[in-house]
Amino acid sequence: MSEVATLTGIGVCAGVTGGPLLRIAAAPALPAPVPVDDVEAEVQRAVAALAEVVADLSRRADRAADETVAEVLRAEALMADDEELRDAVREHVEGGADAPHAVDAAFGAFREMFAEAGGYLAERVADLDDLRDRAVAVLLGLPMPGVPQPGFPYVLAARDLAPADTADLDPEQVLALVTEIGGPTSHTAILARALGLPAVVACPGVLGVTEHTLVLVDGSTGRVEVGVSAASVAAAGALAEAAIDDNAEPGRTADGHAVKLLANVGSVKNVPAADQAHAEGIGLFRTELLFLDRTSEPTRDEQIGAYRDVFRAMAGRRVVIRTLDAGADKPLPFLKQEGEPNPALGIRGLRVARQRPDVLTTQLAAIAAAADDCGADVWVMAPMVSTLTEATAFAAAVHEAGLPKAGVMIEVPAAALRAADLLRAVDFLSIGTNDLSQYTFAADRMCGDLAELLDPWQPALLQLIAICGAAGRDTGKPVGVCGEAAADPLLAPVLAGLGVSSLSMSPRALPGVRAALGRYSYAECRRLADLAVAAPDAAAARKLMG
Ligand code: PEP
Ligand code: MG
Repeated sequence: MSEVATLTGIGVCAGVTGGPLLRIAAAPALPAPVPVDDVEAEVQRAVAALAEVVADLSRRADRAADETVAEVLRAEALMADDEELRDAVREHVEGGADAPHAVDAAFGAFREMFAEAGGYLAERVADLDDLRDRAVAVLLGLPMPGVPQPGFPYVLAARDLAPADTADLDPEQVLALVTEIGGPTSHTAILARALGLPAVVACPGVLGVTEHTLVLVDGSTGRVEVGVSAASVAAAGALAEAAIDDNAEPGRTADGHAVKLLANVGSVKNVPAADQAHAEGIGLFRTELLFLDRTSEPTRDEQIGAYRDVFRAMAGRRVVIRTLDAGADKPLPFLKQEGEPNPALGIRGLRVARQRPDVLTTQLAAIAAAADDCGADVWVMAPMVSTLTEATAFAAAVHEAGLPKAGVMIEVPAAALRAADLLRAVDFLSIGTNDLSQYTFAADRMCGDLAELLDPWQPALLQLIAICGAAGRDTGKPVGVCGEAAADPLLAPVLAGLGVSSLSMSPRALPGVRAALGRYSYAECRRLADLAVAAPDAAAARKLMG
């Protein structure tokens, strides 16, 4: 039997699963140029390839179950169906290039222009590269690059995922994601969590694995075992099944102290997974995931539809919906946030309302309309709040829209330090540990190399959480955690001990967190929390749990 090799990356979405590994079909390499005899025929060949790419993307758009996905694909198709592009291709063929080289050169010129323009256009460079690869693949008779559709479940490996790839993923077929680059809180990681797919990023060597080799992916530890047996794959599948259906109890410590276990979702598509994991509600509905690739602002009615779907599916339970968290790692093209030297420190989250108050007003009106008569207990919160002034203004806007419960996310150290003040202005806090880590440690959340600074066990982060938890205990108002830290089973008792009253996570992580929480009394949780905050470093804090 061949040996099992282990690759290591950063686990970004918990869960163990296995299956054959397939790669996103590689970009086709350009062959050596060939002389062109019939210029007109060569132009037509190139134009036909572009048309085939447009047709393929349009077909995929029509098949897409989700309107946002369809729109991403249509936007890409539109870029390939461009008169100027065809003219440029013609010019290159007339200048002596064969069809693949003419297509490559034409896209290359557009690419340079887009990259130089910066901002929104620069972000479309990946789309241009993807279109070029598709057209060249058609011309060379190679498979279209992109996510494979083999008709059986598999583990998807890629260097990174383009938005169009992630949008096109079918969670019924893709068992797990492994990418060579990326960070713990990158776009790929967020989408993996929204889909509940075990995922490992920053995993060097994964592209060297022979296709169809059986692999086991552990989205908690970041380990990818290559060359495992079919029996190991089956055992992992059985374990995952068992973890899903065993326990429907609400979250609580061994002696009954309640800690609500909630799910993070990006759309109604994620609700079945939340139900399967017996989530007590939704602790974070990331509304921007519905609009990531929209080039125009979603209308009020569209928003009402998308929100109502989730609210109705959660009738009788709590849904914490977050207003758009646009900017930095989640740019929304329709907001055209261009030219910021430091987007993570710029106009993002609630700050967008400084420039576009209309976007927030429309969204709150849409949430209020969707919440009306839906049966769910709808709470609304804002991302990236820094001051009491911002929190007060947001709460006023939420109440003015007719929504009763307003809260803010704690993602900026300034807000954590003033948690008690903020809790006088709002009804609840929700700690976004992904951003709170980023801003506390001045470490880009997209940067895999700084993963140890982004470790949720860092005592400085825990100390900020402790300030928020104490404010929650003093006021009797809920303080939740909805960043990735909430998905770490070992950390759950510590967070409970710090005063956190709910944990919201990817549904797959929920059974493990529920079980871990039930192993400790509340007094033990408080003791562990004190020790973890006092620990000299993250490793020492984690070691407290044995
Ligand atoms: C966070 O920052 O922890 C969070 C939950 O928000 P997001 O990851 O969407 O920025
Ligand atoms: Mg955040």
